Amino acid sequence: MESLAAEHSRLRDQEVQHQTVVSDLEAEQSRADADVNQVRDRKARDQHRLDSGQVTAAKELESLQSEIASLERRQGALEETELEIMERLEESQQALAAATSSREDVAERARSTQQARDAAWTEIDAEIEQVTTERGEQVRGVPAELLELYEKIRADREGVGAAALRQKRCEGCRLELDPAELARLRSDPDDVVERCEECRRILVRTPESGL
Ligand SMILES: [Zn+2]
Repeated sequence: MESLAAEHSRLRDQEVQHQTVVSDLEAEQSRADADVNQVRDRKARDQHRLDSGQVTAAKELESLQSEIASLERRQGALEETELEIMERLEESQQALAAATSSREDVAERARSTQQARDAAWTEIDAEIEQVTTERGEQVRGVPAELLELYEKIRADREGVGAAALRQKRCEGCRLELDPAELARLRSDPDDVVERCEECRRILVRTPESGL
């Protein structure tokens, strides 16, 4: 999850960078567009004056024609610049679209991971609830004092408060009880609460205890 979030953040940065380039080029394009329009309008005005027949002096006519020719060259150059900007803009827009798509892919992956995790949590919660219910049923009838002792040991001993005695071994700490201990356990009445000498867990005597 952390790595997906880091990847998403990195892709988001990339996307912002591309977005900045696109915005800059869009501004550059509209400036270039305005430049072209200005030259085109001026050329049209000159052409109109030329066509109107109002200008008759040879020198003035020559100057007007020369200006129109110069404006034409200027317009050509500006249009070429504008075309270059448009090409760069198109490339940047494609790069931006690719960056956005990559970022969205990662976001989608993060979303489905999150959903899977939520589903797992829901399952775990249901399991906890079930185990809690089962435990509630099982502790009913257990003396409060014994339950308290069990909880205290459980808190101290990695969540295991009681262990079965199996083949002379405490299943909690895996150690074998010495013969004197075993003899005591053998002779104690069934209702005596036994404790392991080593780990202090409650020892549960069973037919497999080896007593
Ligand atoms: Zn033990």
